[in-house]
Amino acid sequence: MKKRLFVYTISIIFAGLAGFFGVSVYMNHITNTNISKDSVEEITRICSYLYSDGIDTDAFVQAGNNARITIISSDGEVLSDNRPLDTDIVENHLKRPEIQAALNNSPQAYIRVSKTLEKALIYYALKVDTDDGYVFVRAAIPVEQINARLFQTFPILLLILFVLAVVYIAFIRNMVNRITKPFNSIEKKLRSLSKGEYRQTPVEGSYEEIERFTQVIDEIAVVLQNGFDSLSDEKSKLAYIMDNISDGIFTVDKNGNITLINKSALNIFDADNDVIGRDMLYLSSYKALMETVRDCIKSKNNALFEISLNGIIFLVTVKPLPATDLTMTIMSDVTENRENAKRREEFFANASHELKTPLTAIKGFTELTSINNKDDNISKYINSITRETERMLLLIGDMLKISEIENSQKAKPDLAALKPVPIFDIINDVRDTMSTIINEKEIYFKVVGSVYESTITAEPGHIYDIVKNLVENAVRYNKQGGEVRVAVKNKKNIVRLIVSDNGIGIPVDEQARIFERFYRVEKSRSEIGGGTGLGLAIAKHICSLYGWKLSLKSRVDVGTEVTVEF
Ligand code: ADP
Repeated sequence: MKKRLFVYTISIIFAGLAGFFGVSVYMNHITNTNISKDSVEEITRICSYLYSDGIDTDAFVQAGNNARITIISSDGEVLSDNRPLDTDIVENHLKRPEIQAALNNSPQAYIRVSKTLEKALIYYALKVDTDDGYVFVRAAIPVEQINARLFQTFPILLLILFVLAVVYIAFIRNMVNRITKPFNSIEKKLRSLSKGEYRQTPVEGSYEEIERFTQVIDEIAVVLQNGFDSLSDEKSKLAYIMDNISDGIFTVDKNGNITLINKSALNIFDADNDVIGRDMLYLSSYKALMETVRDCIKSKNNALFEISLNGIIFLVTVKPLPATDLTMTIMSDVTENRENAKRREEFFANASHELKTPLTAIKGFTELTSINNKDDNISKYINSITRETERMLLLIGDMLKISEIENSQKAKPDLAALKPVPIFDIINDVRDTMSTIINEKEIYFKVVGSVYESTITAEPGHIYDIVKNLVENAVRYNKQGGEVRVAVKNKKNIVRLIVSDNGIGIPVDEQARIFERFYRVEKSRSEIGGGTGLGLAIAKHICSLYGWKLSLKSRVDVGTEVTVEF
């Protein structure tokens, strides 16, 4: 900028000076020409007086200074010339413009190159009357003489020019320095701002306009600096939080290069911080994990799966981050959870099994006691024991069923080895088993849809358990004289079983929990039917075993509808 400003200003000033010089020279030339014209006129006039007075003009013209004096007859013949040259004298002068002008009584000076002298001359002629007519007296001076004056002033002009140039250069250099100096300070300011180390300092050699400009920079800088400060605060907080999270977290860009990784993730993969910016293969060569992350980058879908790394079980969540091209992977150590769940399942199965044998024995002995007992008072107790024992056996039966399904969940059912089960037969069996309670509660039991032609490929016992639990609930939690509707729909090869009732319904906030083991809406409600709290949990377990979808819609005092999509 400095150089350009200097060159630009100097060029303008020099162009101005050159123009001024040119104009001065031209004006000088014009003035000198006019002066010369005046002087040639003057000389001609004096000569013509002398000629009229009969003074020896020859002597005068011979002396003639620098001027050339010519006496020309009225018919154009040269009578006398102080610079005679044969050719010029011989030539008739009547057609010369100055002679013509004098002839017409409007004398005028003319500049032209003289053939005789071979240089430019300024000519002027006057008509002078004589006794026998008239002659022309003509004077001419060389144009060189005009320019000689000009050349006299030339060195002075050049000197003035040179002095002016030196003064201007010094002045412009100083001015350019003063203009550009504040910009250097501003540049320093902005550089410190970019490094986040901004300090407010006055700008050296500042002008009012630049001061206003730097004031705005200062204001912006304060805002930016605050932004930087809080950003770096947030960044260090985030880094602190990330490094103190026990889950391993890392993010990769769309090319699979690592952009962020926390301490836990580095520990999981036994890696160093230098993996940042590198392909995630540097982190681990564990194929299943890395391929899933790459799939998620491409498809922008989430993934949730479990992997085992060096004996540790991780629940892995892969999530493309919205509005960025980053994909985040979170690895949570669930080894302990899985082991606890396994222990719970084992305990659940063992306890159920261990309880079943003594309870079966109690049931047998109670039946024996009941046969031999004649005392009505004792019969009351025996009936109570029989009822509770049956409930306990029912409960243990359900508990064992869940354990059994959980075990089979580890080895998915081989559908090819199973036969299609007609759903109508199962619904019929369930209705028969429940006929007593259906009659007692005067329930209107309705079976609708393509129930006769629909079959489901599964373990018959599993379908029976689902239908039994759903129908049992629809009857149990129904009003006296209510309605239970079992519908089977077969659309586009998808069979749906819909069990609905117009019973007491389930409050919305309880609906998500009723599939949990032993969860019951309200104790008082559950006492209505005396269930085990495991029916829906069993249904849900079976559905997840086959990959079926179980859903529920319910409104309190309106009814419930449970759908299984096989
Ligand atoms: P339970 O053996 O207690 O019936 P379930 O697992 O089958 O256990 O059901 C859990 C709870 O959900 C029940 O205790 C009951 O309160 C509620 N429930 C289930 N089905 C219905 C229904 N059709 N209408 C109203 N409440 C129901």
